[in-house]
Amino acid sequence: MDKILVIDDSAVQSEYLCSILKDDYELTACHTAEEGMETAIKNEFSLILLDVVLPKMDGFMLLQKLKSIDSTRYVPVILITSLSDSQYEERGLLLGAVDYITKPFNPSIVKARVNTHVQLYRYQIQFKRQAMIDELTGVANRRYYEDASVSRWQEAKRFEIPFSICMFDIDKFKLYNDTFGHPAGDEVIIAVAKKAASFFQRSTDLFARYGGEEFVAVFMGNQGVPAFEFMKTVRQSIEDLHIPHNSPVSPWVTISIGGITLVPRMGDKLENYLKLADTMLYEAKQLGRNQVVWSNQNREQWREK
Ligand code: GH3
Ligand code: MG
Ligand code: MG
Repeated sequence: MDKILVIDDSAVQSEYLCSILKDDYELTACHTAEEGMETAIKNEFSLILLDVVLPKMDGFMLLQKLKSIDSTRYVPVILITSLSDSQYEERGLLLGAVDYITKPFNPSIVKARVNTHVQLYRYQIQFKRQAMIDELTGVANRRYYEDASVSRWQEAKRFEIPFSICMFDIDKFKLYNDTFGHPAGDEVIIAVAKKAASFFQRSTDLFARYGGEEFVAVFMGNQGVPAFEFMKTVRQSIEDLHIPHNSPVSPWVTISIGGITLVPRMGDKLENYLKLADTMLYEAKQLGRNQVVWSNQNREQWREK
């Protein structure tokens, strides 16, 4: 059931609103803007009904705050007020409210408007989710990586946590396609993606198909050597799938991995470290493939073979 947040200082008004919507939605009521703000951030609401006239922080100010925070920015807000002045309506809509309801309201109109905006929000969420998923493998795609890696990077910078980024690439994959055909190649990409994704399940982990037969992964908290050891396990797990390959590297499908661990400092740029991970990957290929090459900020390097 979709969740709706009602923010209204009048207990009578908010109870009335909740009674109109309670059959179709899970409702939470708050009586101040501050409490509403906190509740909105901590939960995932599909809609917020916001009274404009509130003590201390008013509805307009709260709306502005909600629109400035990533986690609440896209949640539709319907403003509720007894101020029938059209200037207020304009102000609310310009600040990003999706709709405006004037008291006293007609329950069926409130219900209809709420239903419409919740439905639109659901479509929007579904659309965004689909746009971030790689169609072939079902894992995150490059767009998701571009989006999600930034917040991980900033978090690592703020808390001075080691940040690891790596690229991996299926070895001699052109040869695989040439030998077994493109559809069989697709199945290999799916199998590799599924296996590798299973290693990146923590909330701060990130794993995505970067393109073609290349993947990118981000994880946090491990120093260079443990990160290197961890990625060796990932690499080995792909070899252990024992997918037959007619390659000079191994009788099985294998991957090469290049990566780097660092504690991001002021002025460091994430894209430069992705490039360094790619350089390490290139080295792993040069050294004979089916191996991990890892580095750190101090230019120390670890090679698997
Ligand atoms: P290396 O070990 O140096 O990585 O050699 P490679 O043959 O894997 O590298 P190369 O970049 O020459 O070839 C990558 C191949 O991956 C070529 C391309 O046809 C194939 N490929 C990319 N995307 C897909 C896909 O979605 N499905 C299939 N079946 N093949 C793909
Ligand atoms: Mg490649
Ligand atoms: Mg390749």
